[in-house]
Amino acid sequence: MNSELKEKLTKLAFNRSLPFCYNCYHECPTGHCESCGSDDLMRLVQGVGCEYGIEWIVQYILETELNPVNLEESFEELMRECYPETTKVGWMEFDTITLMKEQDPISWRSALAEHESNEESEGMIVSFDGGETYYSTDEVENLTSP
Ligand SMILES: [Zn+2]
Repeated sequence: MNSELKEKLTKLAFNRSLPFCYNCYHECPTGHCESCGSDDLMRLVQGVGCEYGIEWIVQYILETELNPVNLEESFEELMRECYPETTKVGWMEFDTITLMKEQDPISWRSALAEHESNEESEGMIVSFDGGETYYSTDEVENLTSP
C-alpha cells in the first residue's frame, strides 16, 4: 500500500518538474542537456526550487497539498462517542475522557498507539516517514489519481 502510493507520488513529482542542467542553467525537457550533453540533471519546480533527486519534490507536495491526520484528536472524538460524557465519582462529576487521560496517561497513550496501528494496518492512514506524519490514504489517492 505504502510503496504503491509512494510510487504514484514520485510519478506526480516527476510530472510536475523538469530536468534542469545547472551548469548551463536551462531546462532540458528531453532528459539530457542540449548544450553540454550531460544527463546528470537536477529537477526544477517553477517558483519552488531546483535540486538533485525527486524526494524533495515529493516532500514539498505532501507538505503543501495534504493535511496530516491529527490522530490524537480523532481518537479522542472516537472515545467520546464510546463513553458517557461525564462520570460520577462519589458526589463529584467529571468529564470522563479528561478524567481518564489525567488519571492514567500511560494507558491512554497505549490505547492511542494501538488505534494508530489499527488505522494503518487497515489502510486508512499512511506514513512516508516511518510514522512521524500520517496522511489519509484517500487524500493521497485523490491527489495522485489522474
Ligand atoms: Zn548543460
